[in-house]
Amino acid sequence: MVKIALDAGHGFNTAGKRSPTGEREWFFNNQVLLACMARLNEYENVSLLRLDDASGKIDQPLEERTNRANQWKADVLISFHHNANTGQWGNWGGVETLVYPTASKTSFQLAELIHPKVVQAMGLRDRGIKKRNLHVLRESNMPAILIEGGFYDSLTDIQALRSSDRLIAQGVAVADGLAAYYKLKKKTVEAGNAGTDNQTTTEYRLVTGTFKTKQAAEKAAEQLRNRYGWTIYIKDV
Ligand SMILES: [Zn+2]
Repeated sequence: MVKIALDAGHGFNTAGKRSPTGEREWFFNNQVLLACMARLNEYENVSLLRLDDASGKIDQPLEERTNRANQWKADVLISFHHNANTGQWGNWGGVETLVYPTASKTSFQLAELIHPKVVQAMGLRDRGIKKRNLHVLRESNMPAILIEGGFYDSLTDIQALRSSDRLIAQGVAVADGLAAYYKLKKKTVEAGNAGTDNQTTTEYRLVTGTFKTKQAAEKAAEQLRNRYGWTIYIKDV
């Protein structure tokens, strides 16, 4: 059994952690985490522990997050974040993966395996693997990496962050990287047995309306982003 602890950084209302148009970092982090957990549940012998508040309402203190991972004796900890530079739109961008400077060899090996997959999934610049002294990396007793999947104050990266497909691809990339490292096998779903345990999850997508012009749709999207910080994307129908 491989015990994997995961967290979406911050909480929905954490001060400052939002794009210039009000989209919340936690919202991006959460989508990647959910996709990662869903993918990991397709593998055998995996146990998952989510360290942040799944509703996003509470920004779990970092100490509580690492204490829980340590008490649970996780084998590995993955922290999902997205990056910001100035908080105003700019042309910077890219994906980076952070590892504690004196982390175990396993942490660096995991970063080397997972980081390129995340870069590819997001289709963004590669800022490389970096050493950082961060609480979640330092205070966790197990191999740990923190993924910054792109900048939410970047004019280029925000396009990828507003794409649910990209965020899902990022989560899947991390899950498959973990599966490769720990040599996990895919579950086989036998006929008649499908859906009898809790591996099957149903997801629900919110649809808000149909508009006559793209401009009207964009205007409504902008209003919702500003008001709720949601990730909104427009689809041709
Ligand atoms: Zn963050």
